[in-house]
Amino acid sequence: MAVERERNWDSGCAMNTKHPETKCESPATAKWREIPSVDELLQRPALASLTTRMGRPLVVEATRQVLHDVRIRMAQGLHDRVSVEALELEILRASDAAAEFSLRPVINATGVILHTNLGRAPLSRRAIEHIAEVAGRYSNLEYDLDVGARGKRDVHTDRLFARWAGAERTLVVNNNAAAVYLALNTLAEAGEVIVSRGELIEIGGSFRIPEICAKSGAALREVGTTNRTRIGDYAAAVNERTRALLRVHPSNFRVVGFTERPRLDDLVALAREKHLPLIEDLGSGCLLDLAPFGIAGEPPVGESIKAGVDVVTFSGDKMLGGPQAGLLAGRKEPLDRIRKNPLFRAFRVDKLTIAALEATLLLYLEENFRAIPALRMIRLTTDEIEPRAAKLSQRIRTLPSFEAELAPGESVVGGGSTPGQSLPTRLIAVTHATLSARQLEAALRRNIPRVISRVERDRVVLDLRTVFEDQDEALALAFERLGHGENRSG
Ligand SMILES: *Cc1c(COP(=O)(O)O)cnc(C)c1O
Repeated sequence: MAVERERNWDSGCAMNTKHPETKCESPATAKWREIPSVDELLQRPALASLTTRMGRPLVVEATRQVLHDVRIRMAQGLHDRVSVEALELEILRASDAAAEFSLRPVINATGVILHTNLGRAPLSRRAIEHIAEVAGRYSNLEYDLDVGARGKRDVHTDRLFARWAGAERTLVVNNNAAAVYLALNTLAEAGEVIVSRGELIEIGGSFRIPEICAKSGAALREVGTTNRTRIGDYAAAVNERTRALLRVHPSNFRVVGFTERPRLDDLVALAREKHLPLIEDLGSGCLLDLAPFGIAGEPPVGESIKAGVDVVTFSGDKMLGGPQAGLLAGRKEPLDRIRKNPLFRAFRVDKLTIAALEATLLLYLEENFRAIPALRMIRLTTDEIEPRAAKLSQRIRTLPSFEAELAPGESVVGGGSTPGQSLPTRLIAVTHATLSARQLEAALRRNIPRVISRVERDRVVLDLRTVFEDQDEALALAFERLGHGENRSG
């Protein structure tokens, strides 16, 4: 055998690392013959029991992948031979990895409360329980229990918005982008919608007011200037093609200095006078006045409805603290028209969203704001954060190679709201003797549970404002694991 392999190598056949299965004899190719086949491997007791547990397709795929990788490594001369036991172990690991969730919880130590990449608002326990209660069984989602006939899924949340924000009607769709689109498409298609040049915003990704208008079929009629728009600019632009006025909350940016924007009351009066609907995209959709907690410039939804805005749109998973959703709230007549738009069906939400939203709104009615995680985090004071931070910092300091200290810092609401505003916090600033801040940040991110932190001035900083109190221990353990791993490797 050995002699034969030598001879084949002399034939100078090149390796094809992309297609290692290509027939081509070389020492490595010949070694591949020693690699057991998929079937042989699957007959081994450990893998046979794995197929019983996880199902054959998943294990077969993992086995093929492992064998493919081994061939490539052999072709690259990275190793010479593999033991069946080592292969078995790799296959077990690969199968486990394939059966793992890709979407998984992380510890958010960034201090960004509505972190879009980390899932925006975490849900309250009440919302999670209500989802669990209705998700796995039948429910009266669209069934009127009193009448015993078909009902509407809107009723579950409509009644709560009516009480909390004074809305005559509320519709729920998948997100605020869909809500704005639906409002424009229903109320202004084939006509014009008037928008101030200072409000032609883009919200992260692809939500841009001019593009949403274009897609909705409403022609955008820009008025005023970037920094100053007056009520007279709107009035002068109204013509026979005008179908609606749109006011947009600038959300993620601020125009400062020489600025002017009409008062909401004046816009409402103009809309009434011209018999046009006024749509207001509020974005964040605070249901509470958060000014006492240091958040300015986020007017509560109820204020706009009280002022007479016809349709207010906002997100469910920003300041409201509920599930991803888009809300359209306001006067009955335009909202009933929006509901009849065939696209409403395309944008409607499922029972999980309605359950989470209903539970969140009930907490508002009960004024149990602390039970809503995003609101609780916004309202945390440095006095509440500091003792926890001190404790964790102390624990990190005792680990070999780690340094940690408390530092004043700032948390932000995020989610494209309240730009330039922040909440004072106490950060834990961590450095390591041999790991750079970037390396430490990456190590925390790859830890189980995953920890997402920030790097500032060559230090890893942790903000416990966005860490749930019952995660403090897991966070400490994550550092201990890193500290002791470091010990073992010398
Ligand atoms: C966030 C935001 C949107 C988009 O809302 P989603 O729920 O993310 O679709 C639209 N308009 C404004 C003003 C916003 O702040």
